[in-house]
Amino acid sequence: MGGIHDAIVIGLGGVGSAAAYHLARGGARVLGLEQHALVHALGSSHGHSRVIRKAYFEHPDYVPLLMRAYALWGALEREVGERLYHPCGVLQVGPADGVVVQGVLQSAAEHGLPVEDLDPREAMARFGGFVVPEGHRAVLETDAGVLRVEAAVQAHLEAARAAGAELVAGVEVQAVEVDAHGVRVRWAGGEARARHLAVCTGAFGGVLAALGLTLPVRPLGKTMFWYPSAPEYDLDAGCPAFLFEHPEHGVFYGLPAFEGHGVKVAQHSGGEVLDAPTRPGGRCRRRRRRRCRRSCSARSPRRGRASCRRCAACTR
Ligand SMILES: Cc1cc2nc3c(=O)[nH]c(=O)nc-3n(C[C@H](O)[C@H](O)[C@H](O)COP(=O)(O)OP(=O)(O)OC[C@H]3O[C@@H](n4cnc5c(N)ncnc54)[C@H](O)[C@@H]3O)c2cc1C
Repeated sequence: MGGIHDAIVIGLGGVGSAAAYHLARGGARVLGLEQHALVHALGSSHGHSRVIRKAYFEHPDYVPLLMRAYALWGALEREVGERLYHPCGVLQVGPADGVVVQGVLQSAAEHGLPVEDLDPREAMARFGGFVVPEGHRAVLETDAGVLRVEAAVQAHLEAARAAGAELVAGVEVQAVEVDAHGVRVRWAGGEARARHLAVCTGAFGGVLAALGLTLPVRPLGKTMFWYPSAPEYDLDAGCPAFLFEHPEHGVFYGLPAFEGHGVKVAQHSGGEVLDAPTRPGGRCRRRRRRRCRRSCSARSPRRGRASCRRCAACTR
């Protein structure tokens, strides 16, 4: 860790692992510091899978970022020789005039993305595991799918190391000083210097506070639930990822079963406001499980009746 690095990356989750890799690949002398183990389940980048989609209902401005992300995931897969992305599509269902369906159609139209607009009967005939109520619409985005999230972090870390980055686990950065030459980063028993700093600490706000930055970062506790699968919810049988806008309960999403993990569902909207990114408590998980189950059983009945097999907390 001696000498002056070109860049220090604090936090090696989904974002920091990618930053360390791309900086090192570009020729920078990189030091990456992570407070926990490399690839852990205490932040925001665990839980087996993530949905990746282009036609963001949230806003069309996300789409160029997604285009770039798809290209980079493909390049990373080729570099590490491992499959990280499974293209299964995403079925998005909601009230015809709701934010999800309207948002997807707007992003798709602005950026020329292929989506299929399905009426309820057509959608249910094609995807037997889902219920699309009258008055709702279903939009299928085919160029979407799932990413293996821990595998993706691991792949970035391995590729960063191969490109020369030094990555150190078990180092909690406690102080950062900025001077005319760059930054000095301190932790219990050590320090390092660099010309540039990338703070990739996700929902953990400590380093930002140490820099005197008071950004409006608000950690939200989320829980992911896995259910035993039925054939119509298997990725290999053609089940897409799914996202439902429920008129009363908000937006829920799910991923098909694959690699021995059951169908995963979670709430996209909302979350429990946390003082710090810690694991949300049991009562809150039970509440979320009930809410998820109630909302999803209306849209994917076979899955909704089953009992939850596993759950994991995550901070966003
Ligand atoms: C339940 C859930 C489901 C999600 N689903 C999706 C999805 O389907 N599709 C999608 O696109 N996105 C999804 N997201 C969002 C996405 O997963 C996150 O945005 C992403 O993983 C965040 O990565 P990160 O590196 O910012 O945070 P993290 O993975 O939390 O990484 C931050 C790292 O910084 C480290 N750190 C913090 N402070 C210090 C310090 N002082 N010193 C050293 N290290 C430190 C932490 O230990 C941690 O490893 C989901 C998020 C959650 C929580």
